[in-house]
Amino acid sequence: MENKSQDLKNEYETVIGLETHVELSTLTKMFCGCRLSFGEPPNTYTCPVCLGHPGSLPVINKKAIENAVKIALALNCTIKEHTVFHRKNYFYPDMPKNYQISQYDLPVGIDGYVDVNIGSYIRRIGITRVHVEEDTGKLLHIGSTGRISEANYSIVDFNRAGTPLIEIVTMPDIKSPEEARQYMITLRNILIMLNVSDCSMEEGSIRSDANVSIKLVTDSKLGTRTEIKNLNSFKFLQKGLDYEVQRQIDIIKSGRKVVQQTRHYDSKSQTTKALREKEEAHDYRYFPDPDLVPMKLDTDWINEIKSTLPELPSAKEKRYKELYRLSDYDSSLMANDLEFSSYFEETLKYYNDAKTVCNWIMGDFSAYINKEGITLKQSKISPENLASLLKMIDSGEISSKIAKSVFEEMYTNGSSPGEIISKKGLKQISDAGELEKVIDEVISSNPDVIKQYKSGKSKAIGFLIGQIMRKTQGKANPGLVNEIILKKLS
Ligand code: ADP
Ligand code: MG
Ligand code: ZN
Repeated sequence: MENKSQDLKNEYETVIGLETHVELSTLTKMFCGCRLSFGEPPNTYTCPVCLGHPGSLPVINKKAIENAVKIALALNCTIKEHTVFHRKNYFYPDMPKNYQISQYDLPVGIDGYVDVNIGSYIRRIGITRVHVEEDTGKLLHIGSTGRISEANYSIVDFNRAGTPLIEIVTMPDIKSPEEARQYMITLRNILIMLNVSDCSMEEGSIRSDANVSIKLVTDSKLGTRTEIKNLNSFKFLQKGLDYEVQRQIDIIKSGRKVVQQTRHYDSKSQTTKALREKEEAHDYRYFPDPDLVPMKLDTDWINEIKSTLPELPSAKEKRYKELYRLSDYDSSLMANDLEFSSYFEETLKYYNDAKTVCNWIMGDFSAYINKEGITLKQSKISPENLASLLKMIDSGEISSKIAKSVFEEMYTNGSSPGEIISKKGLKQISDAGELEKVIDEVISSNPDVIKQYKSGKSKAIGFLIGQIMRKTQGKANPGLVNEIILKKLS
C-alpha cells in the first residue's frame, strides 16, 4: 500500500535516510563579516577569511548558531550544551581552505524526530543530528553543455563560500519515495515557519541527498545503500528514488549485489548514474578546528530561544486535541501540514464545528486538489465560503447531497454557495405542504409498492423515498420526507 515497489514485489522493503542541507538566511557568513549574496558578480562578496588566506581567523556567527538551535528544537532534538567545530579535510577547487569547517561527534542537536503526514497515516522519522557547517563556492564549467566533462575550462565564484549551512540527517526510517517527498515538504514547512532560510529549492537553499537500500522484509539487517545526489526538487527526489529502488530490486533479483556508491540523478533521462565509490568518515581526517573555541550553549539562552519559537506542528496538534476535541488522528492531520492548519483555523473563524471542517478538508476537498495537483490555498474556495456552505447544511437550507454538487461548483468557479444555490434553485424543500403534494403523487402512482409495504416488507419504503428525491431533484428535506410518509402509510 505504502510503496509501489512493495506492491509489485511484496518481499522487498525500501529503506531511505535523507541528509538535507539548508542555507541559512543570516545577514553575514558563518565565520566572517561578508554579506550573503545571490546572483551578484562573481567574487565580490569575499574576504581573507572566506578565501582561506594565511593568517586569517574565523569568528563564529552567533545568529547562525541561534538559528541552528531553533531548527534542532523544532525537530525535537536534544541540544548539546557542549558543541565543537571540526575540520573535514578534502580537496576540491570550490573550497579555498582545503577543509570545510563542519561538526562531527559534537553537533548542536541530536536524537530528534519529525511526524510526517503521508495522507492516510503518520510516519515518525527520527532525526539523528542537526549540525552547523559552511557552504562551498560554486564552479562554473565553461563549454557548450555546462558539464564538467565537456568543459574547456572552469571558473570559480567564492561568493557562496562560507555561507552558514545546516545539515539535518534522518534515521533510516523512511519507507518509500513518497514518504521521502512528504518528509521534505514537512521539513521545508517547519523551516519556513521558523523563518531561518528562504528555502528556495530552485536556488538550492534547501537540497537533499538520499541514501537508499533494499532488503527482504524478513531481513533484520539493512541492505547495502547508495547515496543519490542532485535531487533538487520534490518531484526529482521522488522520481530519482523510484528509479533507484527499482534498479536495486532488479540487481538483487538477478542474484547480483548492490555496490555502495554515490550516484547522480539525471533529470533528463530520469535515471541515476554512478559518480564515485563511497568515501568513509575516517577518510576525511576530522579533527577539532584549533582556530575555533568549543561552544558552551547556555541553558538560559536555549530556553530563551525556545520561548521565541512559533507554534510548531506538535504543539498545534496538542491544542487541536484540547480545544476542538479532535481525535489524535484528526489533530495530527490538521496540525502537521502548514496549509491544512491555516485553512482549518481560518475556516473556524466563521464556523465552529472543527470535526466537520476537518472531514471536508480531508474528504472532498483533498480529493479535488490532489487530482489537480494544487494546494488548499491555491484553490478557488475561500475558508469563508467553505464555512457558509457548512452552515447551510446545518440549517437544512441544502441537503448534504446537494452540498456536494455545490462544492464542486465552488471549486470550479470560486462562487459563494449562496450565489450558486439561488442561481440554480437548489434550496432544500422543507415546506411540509409542498412535500406532501409530491409524496401523495408518488403514493398514488405506486399501488403495488404500497401493498408490499403494508404486507410487512418495510424495505419497500426506500423505493418510495427514492422516487420522491428524484421528483424533487434531491432537494427534499430527507428527515421531513421520512416523517410525512410514515404518517401517511400508518
Ligand atoms: P555517512 O556519514 O557515510 O553519510 P551516515 O551513517 O551518517 O553515513 O548516514 C547517512 C544517511 O544514510 C542517514 O540518513 C542514514 O539514515 C542513512 N542510512 C544509513 N544506512 C542506510 C541504509 N542501509 N539504507 C538506507 N539509508 C541508510
Ligand atoms: Mg553522507
Ligand atoms: Zn568573507
